Amino acid sequence: MALTGFYAGSFDPVTKGHLDIIDRAFTLVDRLVIGVGGHHDKSPLLSADERIALVEKEAGALAQARGRELAVTVFDGLAVDAAREQGAAVLLRGLRNGRDFDYEMQMSGMNSAMAPGLETVFLAASPETGFISSSLIKQIARLGGDISAFVPESVAAAIARSMRR
Ligand code: ADP
Repeated sequence: MALTGFYAGSFDPVTKGHLDIIDRAFTLVDRLVIGVGGHHDKSPLLSADERIALVEKEAGALAQARGRELAVTVFDGLAVDAAREQGAAVLLRGLRNGRDFDYEMQMSGMNSAMAPGLETVFLAASPETGFISSSLIKQIARLGGDISAFVPESVAAAIARSMRR
């Protein structure tokens, strides 16, 4: 039976850290659904449409290289509901540090109480990208810094365009 995984986040912007988790997720699941959420953020750097287009482009290239199926979806409610709607059996999360661990452990407990049988699988961040954070990238970009080491070129270009708006 094909295994579907659901990977949720705001992806504002999608980073090399997210893409590392996504690429490694393709070695575990047959089909990956990426849920782009975060519509409650009052000051997003990129619009939902821009975030989705960038995730589709960058994660799409990884899916193709791995011969795996990818779907990108917007979600507004609970990740567990979106995951179930997509037929996912697994929620994928990345762990960078102890702070992620504490938060993610608590969230996985709440999620498994709400959706028994939906398993959370944690992937340890890779040393090369484990320090990357979307919220710090947002701050650096807004202060005029160079974010090109942390995101793919397409994302850096989209952020540069958003800064000129
Ligand atoms: P949020 O839901 O807080 O907006 P993000 O969109 O930044 O989260 O991230 C979604 C998921 O990706 C989370 O599981 C987070 O821990 C993970 N993640 C974020 N950045 C990295 C990184 N650099 N390396 C590994 N995992 C990451």
